Amino acid sequence: MNSAALAAAFAERFGTEPDGLWSAPGRVNVIGEHTDYNAGFVLPFAIKHSTTVAAAVRRDRTVRVSSTFAPDDEPVEADLDLLTEGGVHGWAAYPLGVLWAMEQSGHRCPGLDLLVDSNVPVGAGLSSSAALECAVAVAVTDLAQTGMSRRELAGIGQLAENRMVGAPTGIMDQSASLLGKPGHAVFLDCRSGEARLVPLDLEAAGLELLVIDTRVSHSHSTGGYAARRRSCELGAEQMGVPALRDLTVGDLGRAADVLEEETFRRVRHVVTENARVEAAVEVLTGSSPAALGPLLVASHASMRDDFEISCPELDTAVEAALAAGALGARMTGGGFGGSAIALARVSDVPAIRSAVEQAFASADFRAPGIFSVLPGAGAGRAG
Ligand code: ADP
Ligand code: MG
Repeated sequence: MNSAALAAAFAERFGTEPDGLWSAPGRVNVIGEHTDYNAGFVLPFAIKHSTTVAAAVRRDRTVRVSSTFAPDDEPVEADLDLLTEGGVHGWAAYPLGVLWAMEQSGHRCPGLDLLVDSNVPVGAGLSSSAALECAVAVAVTDLAQTGMSRRELAGIGQLAENRMVGAPTGIMDQSASLLGKPGHAVFLDCRSGEARLVPLDLEAAGLELLVIDTRVSHSHSTGGYAARRRSCELGAEQMGVPALRDLTVGDLGRAADVLEEETFRRVRHVVTENARVEAAVEVLTGSSPAALGPLLVASHASMRDDFEISCPELDTAVEAALAAGALGARMTGGGFGGSAIALARVSDVPAIRSAVEQAFASADFRAPGIFSVLPGAGAGRAG
């Protein structure tokens, strides 16, 4: 929906004009998987798909939230003084969680009417959740003039997601959504929270990043994720370091002696993946983004063989994309389903799409969702 249509929908829903519109993008992670909870590196970019919120300040302490995803539902209504941790369920936990988190951090929020609209695909690994949180966070910080920094706002989004929604996520998604710039990726150090923009002008290079949503989530995905986290903690403890981030590729010889075989492979994934993120930053500073290809391929092999979190659908997506001319491809996210990404020349995209669709059809998999994404602007006022 464009700005004028959203403002009109807001007026119809709430009977007043919005004070303004604020947008925040989804994100995709180029490389750096399962490194975040090991205090390591990630390299996401903000995508051009975004979530927009139309907002108006009220005189009381009531908040009403509504979404164009559910145009016929009555707005969800809450009293800012009665919000409690985990006390909101359903989609409204994201926007109300942001308000709760702001108040928890000592910033008084005004009562608000909010209408949310989005073109970020939901549940496809593009973090529509962070887009929603960050759109609300920038709207509220502008309207209430809290003077909060982007880094603080990322923390607010994370607090909302961890404590109101109940999802144990890191800081990557919100950081990318708030700090992204067109033609750039965000190199984030998950230990210090420091972020640096790195040039990634896919458009100028005639490239696109394809997101291939397998639309499956295997039943062991939650347990598998928790088990990987435990292996990483065990590996760090047995190697005598605070986090796997503190190991380098040069430490892997000793790790092979100290660690039991499976733990060693989990550790090797994280250590080599951190090195691949640093290599990717170096590649992007010096040459065309096409040079990222081999790093993506190595990342996938490491997740498939060492971390063992891939699945037949993800392997099929990656293999079919590479065979049809993708420069690099890998699975992303928690694993056991979800999405893969493929870096491709714009001219090769149609062939890659149909190759992946055909490979899924011949394997009797559910048809995948395929989206092209490009680095876009971070969160901000949209009207
Ligand atoms: P994703 O990978 O897209 O972040 P999540 O499960 O983390 O997937 O978040 C998706 C959830 O966020 C949706 O189920 C919904 O509750 C909420 N959400 C995202 N965008 C919107 C929107 N525009 N309107 C209402 N809810 C939304
Ligand atoms: Mg999410």
